[in-house]
Amino acid sequence: MNPHRRVMTVYGTRPEAIKVAPVIRAIESSERLESITVVTGQHREMLDQVNEIFGITPDFDLDVFAHGQALNVLMAKVFERLDPVLSEVDPDALLVQGDTSTVAAASIAAFYRQIPVVHLEAGLRSGDIHSPFPEEANRKITSQVTTLHLAPTPTSKANLVRESIDPATVAVTGNTVIDALLHTVAEQIPFSDPVLEEIHGGQGRLLLVTTHRRENWGGAMEGVGRALRRLADRYPDVTILLPAHRNPIVREAVLPQLEGCDNVRVTEPMAYGEFTRMMNQASVVLTDSGGVQEEAPSLGKPVLVMRENTERPEAVDAGTVRLIGTDEERIVSEVSSLFDDESAYMRMANAVNPYGDGKAAARSVAAIEQLILGGRRLPDFTGADG
Ligand code: UDP
Repeated sequence: MNPHRRVMTVYGTRPEAIKVAPVIRAIESSERLESITVVTGQHREMLDQVNEIFGITPDFDLDVFAHGQALNVLMAKVFERLDPVLSEVDPDALLVQGDTSTVAAASIAAFYRQIPVVHLEAGLRSGDIHSPFPEEANRKITSQVTTLHLAPTPTSKANLVRESIDPATVAVTGNTVIDALLHTVAEQIPFSDPVLEEIHGGQGRLLLVTTHRRENWGGAMEGVGRALRRLADRYPDVTILLPAHRNPIVREAVLPQLEGCDNVRVTEPMAYGEFTRMMNQASVVLTDSGGVQEEAPSLGKPVLVMRENTERPEAVDAGTVRLIGTDEERIVSEVSSLFDDESAYMRMANAVNPYGDGKAAARSVAAIEQLILGGRRLPDFTGADG
């Protein structure tokens, strides 16, 4: 009989892949666990890049994604296609990460089969069920059916406890995004495209921009495009780099405003290794991404977040992240102030690490082993030594 207990990880998007990859690696190295990986096929190409860096080969592909499909159709497909895999593999635990609709569906599917759910990056809350949409609801749904909550920070644990979740079921691990970042930045992965190499090696300042959030689709995102145009005109010496999200809704809103701007470089989404190198080179990061909000502070980069709220308050409290919303005027003035005012820039450019210390995967696997086999967890991540 195989002495290993099976942990099945289900993931689909690039940010999920980045955050589960260090845990999958740690499960593979465990003498007591066996890793089974299931991808949903959502961001297939972007996923492959991450799987490659970490040497992960998926065991199953649910192939649930289609462009423009309604969330309910996606959810239904996950239920239908994951269930036979759960039945065939009969895992001892199901690991999911974050807050996508596939995470909510996969965790309910496991719960109905009485398979313990382990939720990585548990306890993030914006406090507004409609923003981010549908992620905030997905987080809360997943928490309800989770057996082991792997909270990244003491703040996220406190959010869970406030919702009457038993503190004994929560391990504070730090965020695995920092494990992945440290691993990847150290690799110095070469750029696949000479244009990226040229931008990376450029002498001038670099403004790195990412935008994709569903609640910013439409008018808000058009405003982001107009703000970038104005910044490009105002600062001809600055390179504005926008790896454009594949979603056509995002592209149609932003890209028309940027046509003909020489110092705006629009690229395809960058491979994770390239993106982290570019982030390390940037002067300022302007984003609505969750993961980037966590990574850039570790690299000492000021981050301006184009959202009204955040479920990641730790770096806001530390002064390196500022919430600025999506108003065109505000984006222009906030970025300008960082470019024009050296002391304002220096106040935000502190390398802080409230999200992790690179040991989150080890803490996560120790907690999973304890859940399935008993024994001890590692001490919680406190954030104090960041
Ligand atoms: N990222 C990347 N290439 C890019 C843009 C982002 O690899 O062109 C990485 C980034 O380092 C971070 C993650 O993708 O780890 C964030 O993904 P995204 O913004 O799509 O999602 P979110 O974090 O908002 O869920």
